[in-house]
Amino acid sequence: MKIGFIGLGNMGGPMAANLAAAGHAVVGFDMADVAVPGVALAESAAAAATGAEAVITMLPNGAILRAVADQIVPAMTAGAVFVDCSTVDLDSARAVAQQAVAAGLLAVDAPVSGGVGGASAGSLTFMAGGSDQGFAKAAELFDIMGQKAVHCGASGAGQAAKICNNMILGVTMIATCEAFALADKLGLDRQKMFDVVSTSSGYSWSMNAYCPAPGVGPQSPADNGYAPGFAAELMLKDLRLSQQAAESADADTPMGALARELYAQFVETEDGAGKDFSAMLPRFENRGRG
Ligand code: NAD
Repeated sequence: MKIGFIGLGNMGGPMAANLAAAGHAVVGFDMADVAVPGVALAESAAAAATGAEAVITMLPNGAILRAVADQIVPAMTAGAVFVDCSTVDLDSARAVAQQAVAAGLLAVDAPVSGGVGGASAGSLTFMAGGSDQGFAKAAELFDIMGQKAVHCGASGAGQAAKICNNMILGVTMIATCEAFALADKLGLDRQKMFDVVSTSSGYSWSMNAYCPAPGVGPQSPADNGYAPGFAAELMLKDLRLSQQAAESADADTPMGALARELYAQFVETEDGAGKDFSAMLPRFENRGRG
C-alpha cells in the first residue's frame, strides 16, 4: 500500500519504520529534520498525502491536527483512509473526521496505548472510531504497528476510550503512590506491601505491571531513576483532555479532576517535569499532611 505518514516523532518515527519494514511504500513528512529507516521524505504534508491509499497522522495536539488536515484532505484521493493516531480532544477528532468524510474520504481516529516501546516493537493497542469501512481498511496497518485494535464505535469513540482509560490510569497511579507512602510511614516493608496488594483487591496495572517503588515488582521506570517511560507531562495532557470532555458532556468526574490538579502541580510547580508519571511516589514520600 502507498502510505503517507505525517508526524515522525518519538511515536510516529518507529510506527512509520515498521510499516516500511513490512513492505509498504511510506512517504513521510515532519516539520523537524528527521530520518526514518525505509521512509522517503516529502517536502510538505500535502505532498506526502498525494496519491496515498492511507494517510496516518501522529501529531502533538488537536490544533496541529486541524491545521495538517486542512493541508492533506484536499490532496488526498477519494476513497483513501485518513487515520489519526494522535491523542487529541474529541471536538478536533470529530471535526477532522467530518471534514474528511465530506471530501469523500474514510476517516478513523485511532489513538494508541503502549508508548514508545510499543511503537518500536509493533505492539501498540489501537482504539478506533469511525465507519466499518474505514476501520476495515486501516486494520491491516494496525496489525503491523500493533498487537490489538478495538473498533470502539463512530468517529471520536477511539479518543473517548483513550481518555477514559488514561483517567483511570492517572487516578490509580496516584492512589498506588499515596498508599505506598502511607505504608512507609506505618512501618510496612514495600516488598510485603507489593506481595499483598498485587494479589489482593487493591491490585491494578499501576501496582502489578508498573510498580512505582524502586526494586519492587517487575522492572519499571522507578528502577531507572524515574526516567520516562510515560512522562508526567503526557499524563497531564491526557487528564486535561478527559476533564475537557467531562465538562462538555456534563459528567461528574471528581477523581479525574483531582488527578488533573495533582499532576498539574507536580509538573508545573514541583519537580515533575521530565520525570515518569510514577514519580508521584517520591513526591508523596517527602510530604506530610500540612
Ligand atoms: P513528538 O513530539 O515526539 O512527535 C510529534 C511530531 O510531530 C514531532 O516530530 C513534530 O516535529 C511533528 N509536528 C508538529 N507539528 C507538525 C506539523 N504541522 N506538520 C508535520 N509535523 C509536525 O510526540 P510523540 O511522543 O510522538 O506523540 C505523538 C502523539 O502520540 C501525541 O498526541 C501523544 O499524546 C500521543 N502518544 C504519545 C505516547 C508516548 O509515550 N510518547 C503514548 C501514547 C500516545
